[in-house]
Amino acid sequence: MKPTTQAGGVGGGGGVAGGGYSSGAAAGNGAGTSSSVAAKLPEPIDYVTLISDDSDGEPSPKRTPGSSGKPKFDDDSNDATTPSTTATSDERRTSRRNKPKVDYTNTNKTTTGNTLNTTSENTPSEKSSSTTASASSASTSQMSDRRSQSNNHQSRKSETSTTNGGGGNSTTTSTSGNGGTGNGTTGESGRDMGTPTVLAGQEGAVFQSRLPFSKMTTNEEACFPDISGSGILGHRVFLNIRNSLLHMWVDNPKVQLTFDNALKNIPPPFDSEPNLVRRVHSFLERHGFINFGIFRRLQPIPSKKLGKVIVIGAGISGLAVAQQLQQFGMDVIVLEARDRVGGRIATFRKNSYIADLGAMVVTGVYGNPMTILSKQIGMDLVPIQQTCPLYGPDGKPVPKEKDDVIEREFNRLLESASYLSHRLDFNYAGNCPVSLGDALEWIISMQEKHAMQKRAMHMHEIIAAQNKIIEHRKKVKAVKQTVATLRLEHKALLRQRAPKSAISDDVTYARQEYNIRNTQLKLEDTRQLLDELRQQSKQLELKLYELEQNGPSDVYLSSRDRLILDWHFANLEFANATRLNNLSLKHWDQDDDFEFIGHHTTVRNGYSCVPVALTENLDIRVNSAVKEIKYGSQGVEIVAENLKTSNSQMTYKADLVVCTLTLGVLKVAVAHEESQQGNTVKFDPPLPDWKQQAIRRLGFGNLNKVVLCFDRIFWDPNANLFGHVGSTTASRGELFLFWSISSTPVLLALVAGMAANIVESVTDDIIIGRCMSVLKNIYGNNSVPQPKETVVTRWRSDPWARGSYSYVSVGSSGSDYDLLAAPVIPNVDHPHPSKDSEGLPRLFFAGEHTIRNYPATVHGAYLSGLREAGRIADYYLGYPEGTPSDIGYSVVEAANSVSVGNVVKLRDLSPNLSDSTSSKKSEENSNSNTADSVELQ
Ligand SMILES: Cc1cc2nc3c(=O)[nH]c(=O)nc-3n(C[C@H](O)[C@H](O)[C@H](O)COP(=O)(O)OP(=O)(O)OC[C@H]3O[C@@H](n4cnc5c(N)ncnc54)[C@H](O)[C@@H]3O)c2cc1C
Repeated sequence: MKPTTQAGGVGGGGGVAGGGYSSGAAAGNGAGTSSSVAAKLPEPIDYVTLISDDSDGEPSPKRTPGSSGKPKFDDDSNDATTPSTTATSDERRTSRRNKPKVDYTNTNKTTTGNTLNTTSENTPSEKSSSTTASASSASTSQMSDRRSQSNNHQSRKSETSTTNGGGGNSTTTSTSGNGGTGNGTTGESGRDMGTPTVLAGQEGAVFQSRLPFSKMTTNEEACFPDISGSGILGHRVFLNIRNSLLHMWVDNPKVQLTFDNALKNIPPPFDSEPNLVRRVHSFLERHGFINFGIFRRLQPIPSKKLGKVIVIGAGISGLAVAQQLQQFGMDVIVLEARDRVGGRIATFRKNSYIADLGAMVVTGVYGNPMTILSKQIGMDLVPIQQTCPLYGPDGKPVPKEKDDVIEREFNRLLESASYLSHRLDFNYAGNCPVSLGDALEWIISMQEKHAMQKRAMHMHEIIAAQNKIIEHRKKVKAVKQTVATLRLEHKALLRQRAPKSAISDDVTYARQEYNIRNTQLKLEDTRQLLDELRQQSKQLELKLYELEQNGPSDVYLSSRDRLILDWHFANLEFANATRLNNLSLKHWDQDDDFEFIGHHTTVRNGYSCVPVALTENLDIRVNSAVKEIKYGSQGVEIVAENLKTSNSQMTYKADLVVCTLTLGVLKVAVAHEESQQGNTVKFDPPLPDWKQQAIRRLGFGNLNKVVLCFDRIFWDPNANLFGHVGSTTASRGELFLFWSISSTPVLLALVAGMAANIVESVTDDIIIGRCMSVLKNIYGNNSVPQPKETVVTRWRSDPWARGSYSYVSVGSSGSDYDLLAAPVIPNVDHPHPSKDSEGLPRLFFAGEHTIRNYPATVHGAYLSGLREAGRIADYYLGYPEGTPSDIGYSVVEAANSVSVGNVVKLRDLSPNLSDSTSSKKSEENSNSNTADSVELQ
């Protein structure tokens, strides 16, 4: 099993609104595609002198395990809680989006009989990183144990078996002081693994909503100060109401949860506080915890429109914010440059072939809003089978043992890099921040140096052994000499020996006998010594022989091993959409603690079903490329070009604009040089400096895919993945991983890292040719037919994307996501609106690059849309009833009215743009409260 493979799990594609993605549609609007028919530290760390520099902005969440896992400040989004524990190194090592959570290959059935304890306070994110905490904390529930278990092999067995539902599941209901019921976490049945289910019961619903079960979040405390200051009883009443509402919604997200129905179903005695229920209901609705997505409305949307909004971009974030604002009663128009919705969710559909060209994997189901959407929309979620055999550059399988050894080494290297950063604080070399790639290569060269030092030490040992033998031989020689001398002496004494009768004197006889015996004894002793020395000689020579035979390798990795290691690096580059050299060593994995747990799944019917469903009842103007965004204290004016009717421009006037342009497009917009690029959006006035700096600092990566549609399957039909080891380090990301996730014979090859950009300037024919030769190398020339259809993506060249997704680049940090999320108030030059009136923000931002805890993902983009809708409603429609006016993230004048559910009083927001000719028109438009557009050409 390959952690990084699972870490990879990004892919993607999006159905074409109104007609599906086809090869013909690719040009210009087609998602940048072209198609054609046819744990232990390695020793070497000791060998470097490490420089420490503390000047890198903010502390890393990983630096102080257990405490600093808490991000600096919560964005005011749904991710209301912060983790209390840090990820284990195991979690850190293989990045985020597609790290494995469950080993589906493991069918062992072990019954765990979990019992819920409703004192659990962890959110999905916390659970994913709380392996150790769960063991040590008495208050940590068994539920938390169970979830956290999914991080180790043993637990995967447990999880799988628990979900097999063979009667072993304990669905115990337990009650806590909160009075909440915690039904069992039956999860999925083995047969039903593809069906997205949320954890059952109230606790499961709260977990699914990313909230702590038995405590208020910071946002909740700010919005309910009366409750937060009221002691434990008040908290419990609040939590029971909030948790019950979430339970009702998660249980049935296909139907609007109205206040009336909610009140009817709240268990007594909590229904005796209708005002509080109403406030909690409004709060949850406003912040996108209930009544989001596509559901049957029981109450109509207010017909009188309350303020006009332009949303730029019909990607998942734009659609999310538009749906929310529309249901809050605002007048919304979505402007989209492509001829389809979905943005970086784009599905290729032709005949029976389906392939996602952009996003492809739902990375963890628990806590993921996509799980709720999948209940509302026909999403066919299929778990990914994580087994991933590797094939070498010669097409031969990499032996399992070798594969395992190198994978372990890869993980050790990542752990060492993390140690370097978070323990030794080695994040700067001189004045330059260090990249993950640099750190890894340094560790590798330290390992190489270490290997050479080991080799040198070994040579020393050999020389020492040889010297010992030489010395020993000298000794033997000397002893031999002594033996010879003694033998001669002994012989001479014997020869000269006189019989006793011939010696008159007893003393002389005794001396003669004594000399003879003494010499003989000496001779025997010396002979024995010689034998011993000879024995020792043999041992010394044997030792020398063994030393000579068992010398350490002169290299750390053989060239073949290095290529296998490069495969793992390529996989990491895939997950981050960039070369490792571009990633901040300190912050590259800053979002790891927020990973969702549970199945990683693909959407078998194509991910585009989600954005297409989210278009319901929205006014979306496709083929409308925004050219200019003018904003002022009175409102906004958006100039867009209609791409169908060349040269025709439209100007849209509204109270505010939500910009979901990708980070790549924003980078072009703030580039100083006059851009020759196809899609250059002008901000007037230019974006404030803090925003521009953040746009420049944060990275926007690239990842490409090659889709190959065949008439038959010639690969192992049971495997979803297989890896191909490249022939050089430089080309490691080229076609390194193949996915087979469709029910039809479709292979999807990934091009990551450096290769992702290179491939964009190569023709389709050459790329397809490369794919075919890789496949023929593995499966044999005769086994691989010509593909029937092919598609090659080029996300970097796509003018409406300019890359694939964001990453934390060298010199950047998680805070830049917050800066990218912050709205802009005209003429205010900082990102933190104070409660003193500074004017209303007119320019809001959503998108995957604006959400610190869930960046680079579909769910992150979606949550960013929910977040902005809540923020805009707070500013423009007033806070939900009872919210104090100084809750901190909005200006006071926004809270000029009181809203409860749909009863909203709007202050006069007539846009009065400074331009005198347009102001009247915009005023009229605004007064008429209709989302209108003015065709100029
Ligand atoms: C190859 C690839 C694989 C991926 N794999 C995964 C995955 O497996 N799982 C996952 O969770 N995420 C994955 N992602 C990331 C995911 O697709 C994105 O995070 C998410 O779709 C971004 O949504 P968004 O609304 O922020 O941006 P987008 O979807 O890009 O929306 C922005 C919209 O703005 C439009 N636009 C641009 N310029 C203009 C203009 N001038 N005027 C009007 N409109 C304009 C664009 O056309 C686009 O529709 C992948 C992305 C890629 C590229």
